[in-house]
Amino acid sequence: MSDGPGSGGGSSDGGGGSGDDGGFGFETRAIHVGQDPDPATGAVVTPVYLTSTYAQEAVGKHKGYEYSRSGNPTRTALERCLASLEGAAHGLAFASGLAAEDAVLRLLSLGDGVVLSTDAYGGTYRLISKVHTSLSHTAVDLTDASAPWPVGVKMVWVETPTNPRLAVVDIAAVAARCRAVGALCVVDNTFATPYLQQPLALGAHVVVHSSTKYLGGHSDVVGGFLAVADDGLAEQLRFLQNAVGGVPGPLDCYLVLRGVKTLAVRMDRHCSNAAEVAAMLRAHPGVEEVFYPDASEVAARQMRGFGGMVSFTVRGGEAVARDVAARTRVFTLAESLGAVESLIEH
Ligand code: PLP
Repeated sequence: MSDGPGSGGGSSDGGGGSGDDGGFGFETRAIHVGQDPDPATGAVVTPVYLTSTYAQEAVGKHKGYEYSRSGNPTRTALERCLASLEGAAHGLAFASGLAAEDAVLRLLSLGDGVVLSTDAYGGTYRLISKVHTSLSHTAVDLTDASAPWPVGVKMVWVETPTNPRLAVVDIAAVAARCRAVGALCVVDNTFATPYLQQPLALGAHVVVHSSTKYLGGHSDVVGGFLAVADDGLAEQLRFLQNAVGGVPGPLDCYLVLRGVKTLAVRMDRHCSNAAEVAAMLRAHPGVEEVFYPDASEVAARQMRGFGGMVSFTVRGGEAVARDVAARTRVFTLAESLGAVESLIEH
């Protein structure tokens, strides 16, 4: 496939904003944005700045970095690169996907209502229902455009395709509805990645990632990321990132940044491999139902490929399903997704 959609934009925020995209396509930006050769040494690869603090010339006089919870050059490189790929003015990296989600939920106040997909990732549901207990939450089938939302809802949490049933939600439609009722539209783009789907261009306010998955791509790092277009929202999230402190270390940032360089080629291959696995499963007599979003008209409109995740049910129920998950060769029985090796889980 050629360079992807969305040329990015917006001004740099001195932290993780894009704005230095130079009109280049997706693959080029994945390799270069935020990653100029190191000015001190000429190193072509962004150094891992393993430092917690930075010398100051005089009180309050420094080169833009004071303390690594507030900012670290390796993290800045990652934030700029991923912001560019999401077409965002601002990017913020976190220690995990859930740490990123936690920061987003802290934008809300006591009693505010959140709508989330009935088929949202279980950890997201746990975070909202068991940790952010001062918020009220309602699970809604967001694939149904006419499903009612509670009056006064402040945030709608979209996941598309969903984990695990790969249901597709029309981002543009939900985002338009959010704007009409004054709610923030948050999209978890972990399953699609910015290579396949760009929620900000479809009207979303915040994009969330578990960069543990496709962005890192090699099962060797846990991380999270937020992309935002709005300056005020970015400022609030940047405050929370520093004030709460759920930040990634520089080596983790380096690993995600290295993974992102090959995101486009990996996603192309994930998509073609998954299509073959889905076709094989659909033809298999032991398989009851296959979930892969290739027949979705909405997916065809808002995604450039259908992703690398396939789920299925088997004839014979849970015992058979557990047996299948335990007996694969090559596929490893393990949690997570989005890396170069294939995994299966029940
Ligand atoms: N969002 C989705 C769709 C996920 O699948 C996951 C983890 O599996 C997360 C968020 C949470 O990310 P992390 O495990 O990096 O905290």
